[in-house]
Amino acid sequence: MSFESLGLLPELLRAVRERGYETPTPVQAQAIPVVLSGRDLLAGAQTGTGKTAGFVLPILQRLAPQANTSASPARHPLRCLILTPTRELAMQVEESVRTYGRHLPLRSTTVFGGVNINPQIKALRAGVEILVATPGRLLDHHQQGTLNLSQVQHLVLDEADRMLDMGFIRDIRKILSLLPAERQNLLFSATFSDEIRQLASGLLRNPASVDVAPRNSAAELVEHLVHPVDRERKRALLSHLIRAEKLEQVLVFTRTKHGANRLSEQLEHDGIASSAIHGNKSQPQRIKALSDFKEGRITVLVATDIAARGLDITQLPHVVNYELPQVAEDYVHRIGRTGRAGAEGRALSLVCVDEAKLLKDIEHLLKRTLPTQVVPGFAPDPSIKAEPIVQGRGGRGGGGRGEGVRSGGGRGHSGRGAGSRGEGGRGAGSRSEGGRAAGGRSDSGRVDSGHSDSGRGDSGFGSAGRSQRTGSGRPAAEVARREPARSITTKL
Ligand code: AMP
Repeated sequence: MSFESLGLLPELLRAVRERGYETPTPVQAQAIPVVLSGRDLLAGAQTGTGKTAGFVLPILQRLAPQANTSASPARHPLRCLILTPTRELAMQVEESVRTYGRHLPLRSTTVFGGVNINPQIKALRAGVEILVATPGRLLDHHQQGTLNLSQVQHLVLDEADRMLDMGFIRDIRKILSLLPAERQNLLFSATFSDEIRQLASGLLRNPASVDVAPRNSAAELVEHLVHPVDRERKRALLSHLIRAEKLEQVLVFTRTKHGANRLSEQLEHDGIASSAIHGNKSQPQRIKALSDFKEGRITVLVATDIAARGLDITQLPHVVNYELPQVAEDYVHRIGRTGRAGAEGRALSLVCVDEAKLLKDIEHLLKRTLPTQVVPGFAPDPSIKAEPIVQGRGGRGGGGRGEGVRSGGGRGHSGRGAGSRGEGGRGAGSRSEGGRAAGGRSDSGRVDSGHSDSGRGDSGFGSAGRSQRTGSGRPAAEVARREPARSITTKL
C-alpha cells in the first residue's frame, strides 16, 4: 500500500514525501478512502497511530477544488471544523494541516482558550477554510459573532473520549446545533465508552468504522515493565534508572501538578536536567519545556495526564509512570506517547504498595499481567502498609481538588459511574463542566479546554470528570471535608 494508491492529489503526495512518510499507517490506509468518499467515519485510533494525517489529508483533498488564491476573506469561508480537547493537540493538528496543505492555497488557524482572543479574531476575519478549536473558546467566538459556521462541510471530533472526559459534552452538543445539517462527520476516539457510542449514534450517519487500536488495547510495540518500590524511594529509583540505563528522553507521569513540580526539582537536585509541564504553566513555559525536551536539552519531562495529552513527541523511547493513574484508561493514553508510528518504546511503572489496586485495574483493562522486576537495592519493605491514595490541593490531603484529583463520584474503568461529573454531576465536590461554575471566566469570558488545566487552578479542573472514590465509597472531596486530615495521605 502506498500513498499514491490512495488516490491523493499530487500536491498532497508531494507534502507527504517532503514530510518523510513512505507508507500509510493502518489508520491512514483505512480512513483516507472513506473520508475521500464523503462518508461519515467512526475511528478507533489512539494517538501515535498517524490518525491526524488520516483525516487531514483527505479533507484537504476534498476542499482543494474550492481553494483559491484570492486574498479576500469571502473567498476563504470556514469549511472544516476540527475540535480537540486541548490546546496542545489543537496546535499539533493545525501544524499537520499546514504541513500537508503547504502546496494548496487553503488557510487554517487555531482557536483555544488561555490566550488573548484578539489575534484569533483577526485570523478568523482574514478567512480560513480549516479551523482547529477547543470547544469552549469556539463558543466564545460564536457568541462574539467573530465566527461564521454556516458553511462548515466537514466536522472532526478528535480524541472525542478525552473531550467527554473533560466535560465538553454540552459544548459539543451546542456546537453541533450551530452547524449546517448537511456535512461529513468524523469521530476519532481511543476508547469507546457508552457515552461515546451515544454521541456517535446521534452524530454519524451510516458511518464506516475503522478500528486500528482494538478497544482499550495498549500499543503492542510497547514493552511494559513494573518495578515494585517503596513510595518514599521512587525518586531515588527513578534517578538510579536514568543514570544506570543512560536513559535520554524520559516522559514521567505524576498525578498532580504539585507532584510534577516537586519531582522535577528533585531530579534537578540529583543532577538530571528536567522540566515540569502541567496546567499551571503558562503557554510559553509549556512550549519551552516541550522544545527543550524534544531537542535534548533536558532529559526528563515530568507531566500530568492532562498536560501530556496530545503531545506529539515522535519515537519517544521511555515513558515512566512515577505514579499509576487513578483511571486505568489513562495508562493507555500515557503509553500512547511511546511506540508511536512504529517506533519501539518502553513503559516503566514505579509501583508502591498503595497502588496494588490501580495496577490490577490496568492489568484487567489490558487483559494481561504486566511483567514485574525488582531493581536490586530497591526491593520493597514488606512491613510497609498500604495507605489510601487521595490527592489533595497541592498534593496534600484535604482539599480533594487540583489536577488529577477525582472528586465527586466514581468512574470505573469502563466509564463513569453515576453521580460523577457530567450533565447531572455538578454538585458540590464535583467539577462543574469545564470547571466553569467555580472557575470563573477567562479574558474572553469563558474558561475552556485550552487552558482548562491551567486557568482553572484550584477551581477544579482536576476533578475533570474522573472521580476517585476513597475506600469508604464516598467521593474523595466529601471524605476530605468530613474526616480528619490525617486519614488522607498523599503519596508523592
Ligand atoms: P498521530 O497519531 O497523528 O499523532 O501521529 C503520530 C506520529 O506519527 C506523528 O509524529 C506523525 O508525524 C507520524 N506519522 C504519521 N503518519 C506517518 C506515516 N505514514 N509514516 C511515518 N510516520 C507517520
